[in-house]
Amino acid sequence: MRTPLLLDIAADAAFDRIALGARAEGFDFEAYRARASQVAGWLRGRGKTNTAFLGMNGDVLPVLLFASGMAGTPFVPLNYRLADADLNKLVARTAPAVLVVDDAMLSRIAPVDGIELVARSDFEAEFIAGRPPARIELPEAENDIAVLLFTSGTTGEPKAAVLRHANLTSYVMSTVEFLGADEEEAALVSVPSYHIAGISAILTSAYGGRRIVYLPAFTAEDWVRVAAAERITHAMVVPTMLDRILDVMERTGETLPTLRALSYGGGKMPEPVIARALAMLPHVAFVNAYGLTETSSTIALLGAEDHRAAFASDDPLIRRRIASVGQPLPSIELEIRREDGSCCAPGEHGEIHVRGEQVSGEYLHRKAVADDGWFATNDAGWLDQGGYLFVEGRLDDVIVRGGENISPGEIEDVLRGFDDIADCAVLGIPCEKWGEKVVAVIVSRSGKPDTEAMARAIRAKLRSTKTPEQWFVRDDLPYNETGKLLRRVLKAELAEAVCAG
Ligand code: ATP
Repeated sequence: MRTPLLLDIAADAAFDRIALGARAEGFDFEAYRARASQVAGWLRGRGKTNTAFLGMNGDVLPVLLFASGMAGTPFVPLNYRLADADLNKLVARTAPAVLVVDDAMLSRIAPVDGIELVARSDFEAEFIAGRPPARIELPEAENDIAVLLFTSGTTGEPKAAVLRHANLTSYVMSTVEFLGADEEEAALVSVPSYHIAGISAILTSAYGGRRIVYLPAFTAEDWVRVAAAERITHAMVVPTMLDRILDVMERTGETLPTLRALSYGGGKMPEPVIARALAMLPHVAFVNAYGLTETSSTIALLGAEDHRAAFASDDPLIRRRIASVGQPLPSIELEIRREDGSCCAPGEHGEIHVRGEQVSGEYLHRKAVADDGWFATNDAGWLDQGGYLFVEGRLDDVIVRGGENISPGEIEDVLRGFDDIADCAVLGIPCEKWGEKVVAVIVSRSGKPDTEAMARAIRAKLRSTKTPEQWFVRDDLPYNETGKLLRRVLKAELAEAVCAG
């Protein structure tokens, strides 16, 4: 099935529901489909090559995504946070026929023959605000490329993941109910649309008949204000956003009574933050969603019941599951494998491998799955006795100290148990004696962290080899806008200090 069909069937069934924008002035599903059709007609006149977008979140995005699907051209949302040189490299690499650009970003793109640059204001005047025409026919092939999406580049150069219509629609059908519970459903989208979470929000909202309200860029104040004013029912956040949202709620006394479901993912959620969220938003269903760009978003999730059970239960197995990402979707096969490719036993750590229709595992010009369709995620993890998945982070981040594999995540979990720790990262820094040594970087609330007590707690809970050999205190840690800790940046900054120390 092609992605535009998700919008098409929702628009047939619920044509007068508001689909995009504010309750009072947004436009309905019929107008949404018609505008996408009109843009598709315009794109078709420009050939079959990619359609790209560079800019802040807004209604232009979903219209362009569906229009590209209707016209049969892959959609390429570009990351405006990249340096100009890197951005222009991606433009050259994807060679779009059309590139719609925020007016303020036009000067960042070097002109290239064959690429038509269109200012967003001109595009909006023509298509978003204009009068919608009648529908057009959809092409059939579901194996066409729907979106070319660059990964966050947390572990290296961003990779161009190829997501075909069948990958994305398979994901949508397995995670969202057609037309949702009622027409009050509205999603607040604050994650950037050059990330899989932003693409997922557009597709699931269309099929779910859910109105999208965009925040051009995230601030916790705007998020809480818009969620309240627009009677938002659904939202997705990354871990770094949630704590700040809760701070604003506490300060303003806002309780967000219309909010029904809040999903989070993209990185590990600190347990104290989710405990606080559950206490402050008892009416909300929390979902921890785990996925990658290459898997068209979510492949495993920890649902609302599991969240409640983890905090209510006396059973340590169930309590511990709050740190898990739950169970794989029924449509996903998942295995934890050892380096030699054999399967791990429950509790044993290895690399997470997945297979399923939504898994692309294909990059631009190169295959990324094994011949039997299994995709190696490059994430370290393990399954408990009940099949709950624990993600420990990227394999590249595992510290190898004197031949022992040490997962930074379990040390960071112990540190986060200290009230004084506002944030922390544990890293392996090259050293002659052990190959890598364990180093902790902490953000202390008091400014006077008791690292001796922290080291004792790590020795008691884990092992002495996991105790950091050097401690660094910083005001904050570097994250990207999709909530990922930039370990590479920290490592590079620390490498010199550690070697000298
Ligand atoms: P690159 O692949 O270029 O290094 P990236 O890893 O940031 O970039 P994304 O596809 O944006 O690429 O992120 C996917 C990764 O995010 C997963 O492999 C996993 O490590 C992490 N992740 C996603 N969801 C969760 C979650 N719910 N809990 C813990 N980690 C998560």
